[in-house]
Amino acid sequence: MPQAFRSTRVLTPDGLTPATLLVDCGRIVAVQSWGDAPTSASLRDYGDLMLLPGLVDSHVHINDPGRTEWEGFKTATQAAAAGGVTTLIDMPLNCIPETIDTEALVAKRNAAKGQAWVDWAAWGGVVRGNADALRPLIRAGVPGFKCFLIHSGIDGFAWVDEADLRLALAQLRGAGLPLLVHAELAGPVNAATKTLNEKNADWRKYSTYLASRPDAAEVEAIALLIRLAEEFSTPIHIVHLASAQALTLLAAARERGLPITVETCVQYLWFAAEEIPDGATEFKCAPPIRDAANREALWDALDKGLIDMVTTDHSPCPPAMKRREEGRWDLAWGGIAGLGLALPVMWTAMTQRGFGIERVGAWMASEPARLAGLTGRKGALVPGAHADFVVFNPDTEYTVAPEHLHFRHKLSPYLGAKLRGSVLETWLRGEQVYGGDQFMGEARGRELVRA
Ligand SMILES: [Zn+2]
Repeated sequence: MPQAFRSTRVLTPDGLTPATLLVDCGRIVAVQSWGDAPTSASLRDYGDLMLLPGLVDSHVHINDPGRTEWEGFKTATQAAAAGGVTTLIDMPLNCIPETIDTEALVAKRNAAKGQAWVDWAAWGGVVRGNADALRPLIRAGVPGFKCFLIHSGIDGFAWVDEADLRLALAQLRGAGLPLLVHAELAGPVNAATKTLNEKNADWRKYSTYLASRPDAAEVEAIALLIRLAEEFSTPIHIVHLASAQALTLLAAARERGLPITVETCVQYLWFAAEEIPDGATEFKCAPPIRDAANREALWDALDKGLIDMVTTDHSPCPPAMKRREEGRWDLAWGGIAGLGLALPVMWTAMTQRGFGIERVGAWMASEPARLAGLTGRKGALVPGAHADFVVFNPDTEYTVAPEHLHFRHKLSPYLGAKLRGSVLETWLRGEQVYGGDQFMGEARGRELVRA
């Protein structure tokens, strides 16, 4: 028997509207007018609470298999479910083995068995020397690939230069799958670091870390990627754009119709360099969080659609690796833990800037779904899509405490943040997986293989 879910505020592709979702066999079968809830279906009426599409986070490090002491399928997907995220796309590094061939993909699938509380997919990795492994990974169903232009922090995931990129893009040409790129070039970072060390810079200071990863590293990488996207006519996606200085180049590339998409992350839209205490390495990520003026320029680019989407780049580690006592930015692991907080953090920041909740639909659901080839299945409340949705109260106010964090290690720069908006329930393919601070049922998450 179909189920019906209604609210006066349902976020559909047409905006926030009174509506009834009709759900059967895990899919949305109709989005009807509010008054049309059939009496035969079991009806849940959510009043004025918002019904949002299940969010899609296309940039997460689950670290499973191999580094489950850092994170893992169970804790990461539970954190996602508690935050209204019903689809995670896992990055190919920080797990062991790195997802750079089909054997590693099989190992990941085995690690996920019975552990995933939301649906997931795995990006494949492009590293130096694995061009021959890319087509088999495509056949195995990965939605796209990720590579680095600078040391990744993980020796097993070798970064690529232009020659390697050309080999990879030749393999991807015509496949329609995106190459996601960590867009910082090593040259400017190495030069800046050398200069800082010659001056005996204090590595406890955030300003030292920021200076060591200059805007030029991003701008020069993006200029290279624009050239390659044009030459190979292959979609390239810039992950975690942090420098607003690259926006002019990107705008020109988009105007010329080049297949370039752009994401930024919640941390670049929420924090600002001026507010980061020295030694507070829980804020360390790469590229670094830049100043407040840069942050506002990123918001402007999001508003204009030049930045397509917002992800978390959730990349946790055991707390000891943040080396909080020494507080040295050069020695600490780079990666911010924030999975599950993205919706309230973004909503709080959006209300401060006058954005309506409608924008969440594209930024955090339909655009990342499109990137991963999931349009029609995930990312929007439309007939035929998986019945993934979130019941959201936009008006609650609270301060983030460890009990709000469901990922493995409760160390996060968001602790103490004053936020608005709570996820009350999360539904995955027509079944409730989270509600009332509890996880419900069992780990029903499935892998989403590229169709
Ligand atoms: Zn990442």
